[in-house]
Order: sequence, then structure tokens, then C-alpha cells
Amino acid sequence: MKKNQASGEAALSTAQIDALLLDARQSYRVDCQQTLQLASTARSAAAAIHYLAGQAEADFLTGKAQLIVGSAEMALPALRQARRQAKTLTLAELEAEILISLATASQMQGQQHASFLLWLDALQAALRVNALGCYVEAFLGLGNLYVLHAEPKKALHYLAQAVEWADLCGDQDLRCQARLHLAAVLVTLAQYPLAQRVLQQAQSLLILPLRRDWHAEIYNYLGTIHVAQQDTDAALDCFNAAYQINTDAGFLWGQTVNLLALGGLKQSLQQHEAAAADLLQALNLASQFNGYSLLQQIHYQLYQIFEARGDFVRAMMHHIGYHDHFMKLQQQSSANTLSALNTRRLNVVDMKLKLLASELEVTQLKQQRHQESGRLQALESAAYHDALTGLYNRRALDERLPELMRTAQENQESLWALMIDFDHFKSVNDHFSHHIGDVVLKMSCEALAKLTRERDMLARYGGEEFVLILTHVDGNIAHKIAERMREKISQLPWAEVHPDLKISLSLGGAEWQISESAETLLSRADHALYKAKNAGRNCVRFAGGAHD
Ligand code: GH3
Ligand code: MG
Ligand code: MG
Repeated sequence: MKKNQASGEAALSTAQIDALLLDARQSYRVDCQQTLQLASTARSAAAAIHYLAGQAEADFLTGKAQLIVGSAEMALPALRQARRQAKTLTLAELEAEILISLATASQMQGQQHASFLLWLDALQAALRVNALGCYVEAFLGLGNLYVLHAEPKKALHYLAQAVEWADLCGDQDLRCQARLHLAAVLVTLAQYPLAQRVLQQAQSLLILPLRRDWHAEIYNYLGTIHVAQQDTDAALDCFNAAYQINTDAGFLWGQTVNLLALGGLKQSLQQHEAAAADLLQALNLASQFNGYSLLQQIHYQLYQIFEARGDFVRAMMHHIGYHDHFMKLQQQSSANTLSALNTRRLNVVDMKLKLLASELEVTQLKQQRHQESGRLQALESAAYHDALTGLYNRRALDERLPELMRTAQENQESLWALMIDFDHFKSVNDHFSHHIGDVVLKMSCEALAKLTRERDMLARYGGEEFVLILTHVDGNIAHKIAERMREKISQLPWAEVHPDLKISLSLGGAEWQISESAETLLSRADHALYKAKNAGRNCVRFAGGAHD
């Protein structure tokens, strides 16, 4: 602290360092130079206050960014240091991420066996903390390793898993990347229609302009597919589109790949001059970044062109070039066989992951269903309930009443309908306000609902008219219930709402006659209500029988 103050800088808090590190992480996909700068600032700040976890994260981000803008050699010291720290501090998720970067570094250095072991370590570390993004990257790594080993079937297996996990973790960029790698292997396996579909998916997931290089790659694969399908015009268009993107963005490797493809295509169209020009340009580019496998392919094609032209000196020169690079690649791959033992270890990890994947899918499905059924219930509830009072609405009554009648008939029970209407409600609105009118309706309905039993159905029939359906009661009880409701409403503390407010109900009741329709029953109840109104309101009248 003192040291910082002396140099005129206040020490950053751990929260501030975390914020810096988050920025560094987020800048990684966009601008790795910025990641390096932010990570370096965070690293010094973390060291100043002995914030070890911050240091480990900063080292990791430094190494990861160096892999992109620098080289594996430059990245390794920071990554190794980060791994030691993450292990000591038991930061399991960070460790999995570091292992992925270390595996990438080994792969970049051509140490395929070492990278294979590191991908496995990364997978196992990711398994411990269930880090979905790490699975995707590890499967991509393993898949690509098998591509290098010319085992496309095994590669396919891991890349398909990478796609699955990317979809589960939902990261758009990873979903796109995994599909791109999968498509490459599908093209190798001559599964063209499938490859095309996967490429279309990748294209729709592209984040542009960030992933221009992937965009160009997609065009290049589509070109290869068109070549295989003997649609040379479409193939030329695709390769040229890819080359244009790579040239605009200054991607050397991409340009080389496109030129190699263009050269091959032109050669097959007997355009030898143009083919040679493309291939010589590709050769020039590839020697700038030592792409052995590309150099080998370019030399081979040039050798064939010059031999066909009778230019044996140049043909010989390219044959030697081809052979040199072929030998280099052979040496690398024989030093890199993946042992059976490790393959077994991989299978174990594989099994665990499969279990995990199905578990995850099941929980996700469950969540989805839960959400859907929740939505459905909400919709149903809205469709059958009145928004103001929360009671059933007219629609619910219309659908339910015939059912209640059927049940009453089956059980030989009685069924009563009460029609409930507020007295002079228009003047409540007029004298007080529509708002107070609403409050009256709400308060009254709460009170009425409390007076009904579970099996009764209270519904808002429309406006300030309500219907109560009672089953399994005789006329006396139906009448008592109606009276109780009338009394209850007239006695609610209306003065609390407004000092001059007085509210009363009129009710009309009718007993259902077997084979009578719901409509007739309600109209008879309504008729009884009309009689109650005529009798001076705030009273109960029943249709027919003793209480009429
Ligand atoms: P009566 O005693 O004869 O029933 O007289 P009334 O004024 O109640 O007559 P009527 O049933 O014809 O009028 C009902 C009034 O209730 C008309 C309408 O303005 C009012 N109303 C209907 N629904 C609502 C509502 O949701 N909120 C409010 N505030 N008023 C409503
Ligand atoms: Mg009324
Ligand atoms: Mg009315």
C-alpha cells in the first residue's frame, strides 16, 4: 500500500480488479491486444494487494490472448503459472479453462500426444465443476486432433458431441464454431447434403463482422461441396467469395486455402496458366507462415501442372518440395500416435459425459414443460375468470352449468340458481365515481365468495349482476343463503369507502326442473329478481313454490 501511495497510485480493491478482469475476458473475442493490456493492469494491481485469485485469472487471460496474437511459446509461461495458482487455490473451473489453453498451445506446437493428454485433463476438470463451455472446447480439441490423425470417423464422434454441448450451453459463437468443425469432417467423409445443412446452421449463427474468417471458411467448404457435385460455376463463386473476405481482412492462411482450391479447380477446367498463377501465389503466402500441410499440397499440384506442360525442371523442383513436406509431416505423426491406454481413459470420460448430457436434457425438458404448463394454466385462468372480481366469468358459467345439471340429475340432487343484482348501481357510479363503483363490486364479491361453499359456483354474469349455483340444498336453505347474502352486503362498512355510501342487493332464485335448459332456469331466476326489484329492492324472491 505504502509503495503505491508513494508512486502516486491508490491500490485497487479486489472488486475493482474483478471488474478489470471481466472487461479483459469480454474483450477476448473482439480484441486480444486489449485483453493483454487489461490483464496486465489487473495482474499488477492484484500482485500489489496479494490477491492471488486475481493474479491467476490475469495470468490465464494473458496466456489465452497470447495464443491468438503471439505464439504458443509466448503463452506458455503465463499459462503454467496460472495453472499452479488455480490448483493451489482450488479454482476448479479456472483450472479447466487453463488446461484447454495449455492443450491448444501443445497442439499449436505440433505436440499432439501431449495435447491429447491435456484435452483429457481439461475434460476431467470440467466434469468436476460441470463447465459446459469447457466440454465444447475440449471436444472440439479432441475432434480436431483426430482430424489431424486422419481418423474422420472418430473426429465426427467428438465434433458431434461438441455441437450437442454447445447447444446445451447456448453460446451462439460456440454453437457456430462447433458446426463449422463438424461440417469440415462431413465434407471429408463426402456427406455433402448433411454438411450443407450444418453449414447453413453455422451461417445463421455467425456473429459478424467479428467472425469474418469463419464466414470465408463456410464459403470455402460450400465451394468444395459444389466441386464434388460438379457444379463448377457455383464452386468458383464460393471460392472467390471466400478469397475476397480473407483478402479484405488480411487473413493469410485463409487466402492460401482459397487459392489452393481455386488452383485445383482451374486446373481441372484445363485453365493451366490461371491455375499455376493461383498456386504460385498460394506458395508464396504459405511460406510466410510455414503451413507444412498446405505447402505439401501446393507443391504437389504445381508439380503436376509443370509436368503436364513438359517443364520438367520446375516439375522436379516442386516434387522435391512436396516430398520434403511429406516427410516432415510423416515424422510428426509417427511421434504422435495416441496410445490405447489413453483411448480407454477417454472412453471413461465419454461415458460420464453422456450420462451428464442426458441428465441435463431431462432437467431442461422438465423446466420447459413446467413453464409451458404454467403458461397454459395462466391462460386458462384468464379465460375463465373475471379480472375485476376474480370470480368465474360468464363463459365459465355457460360451460359449467350444463355439467352441474347433469351431475345433479345423475345423483338425483336439487340445483338452485340465484340471480344477484345491485340496487340502483347506476346512481352509485353517478354520485360517487366509477372507481368507487368498482371498489363496491370487489368488496362485495369477496364477502359473497366467503358465504359460498366449495361446491357452489359464483360467477359474474355481466355488469353488476352475479349468479350463484347451489347444489344439494333444499328450498329453505337456498332461501337462507340468499337472505344471508343480502344482509351481509347491506351491513358491510360502506361508510369507510364513502360516508354517504349505502349498498344493497336484490336476489331472485329458481329451482332447476329436470329437462329444463340452463337458459330457461336463469331466465326464471331473473324473473324472480325482477319481482324483488318491484317489491322495493333489498329483498329476496323465488320463482314458484312457497317462497314466491
Ligand atoms: P337496479 O336497482 O334496477 O338494478 O338499478 P341499476 O342502476 O343497478 O340498474 P342497471 O342494472 O340497469 O345498471 C347497472 C349499472 O352498473 C350500469 C353500469 O354503469 C354499472 N356497472 C356495470 N358494470 C360495472 C363495473 O364493472 N363497474 C362499475 N363501477 N359499474 C358497473
Ligand atoms: Mg342493478
Ligand atoms: Mg343490472
